[in-house]
Amino acid sequence: IPIGQAEFITTAVKPSGYPPPGPPEVAFAGRSNVGKSSLINTLTRRKKLVRVSGTPGRTQHINFFSINQDAIRLVDLPGYGYAKVPKAIRAAWRPMVEAYLSGRDTLAAVVVILDIRREPTGEDLMLLDWLRSLQITVLAAVTKADKLSNNQQASRLAKLRPTLAPFDPTPTLFSASTGQGREELWARVCEAAGV
Ligand code: GDP
Repeated sequence: IPIGQAEFITTAVKPSGYPPPGPPEVAFAGRSNVGKSSLINTLTRRKKLVRVSGTPGRTQHINFFSINQDAIRLVDLPGYGYAKVPKAIRAAWRPMVEAYLSGRDTLAAVVVILDIRREPTGEDLMLLDWLRSLQITVLAAVTKADKLSNNQQASRLAKLRPTLAPFDPTPTLFSASTGQGREELWARVCEAAGV
C-alpha cells in the first residue's frame, strides 16, 4: 500500500504512556547509529518523521507513529549497544523494550536492522533470540548497502544469510541514501501487519 499520511503519535517509556492499542504495530530495533531513524524516514518517505540524532544512544524512549489514518503504526524502539551511554541508561533498555515486546498485543513484527559492513554483535543476536522465544515475527533489514558495490553486497548477504536464516530466511538489503529495498521492506512490513 502506498504511504499517504504519516504522523508522530507520542513518546513513551512505560506501558502507561503508550497510546491505546489500535491497528497492528511494526517495531524497529537496532544498534545505536545503525541507521534506524534514516530507515524509518525513507520507508515513510518523510525527511524528518524521526529525528536523525547526532548523539547516538541518547534517545531512550519508544516513539509511536501512525500511518495512513492509523491503518498501521510504526514503533521506534530505543537503540542499544552504544558504549558511551551511561550505565543506568543502558540498564533501562531491556525492561523498557521487554515491557513493550512481551505486553503489546497489537505487535505484528519487529524489523531488526543490521549494518551491511558489520558482523551482527552479541546484542544483535541476543535480540533475535529473544524475539524468537517470544514468537514475534522478525524482518531483518541490512542497511547502508550503498556503502558497498553490488558484488560486495551480494557476498556480504551470502555471508550473513546463514546467521539470519533461523530468524528471517529472506533479509532485505536496504539503503536510506538510494532508497534501495524500500518497496520490498514496506511490502514485507504491510504483509506482516496484515494490511
Ligand atoms: P540511528 O541511530 O540508528 O537512528 O541511525 P541514524 O539514522 O541516525 O544514522 C546514523 C548515521 O548513519 C547518520 O550519519 C546517517 O546519515 C548514516 N546513515 C543511515 N542510513 C544510511 C544509509 O543507508 N547509507 C549511508 N551511506 N549512510 C546512512
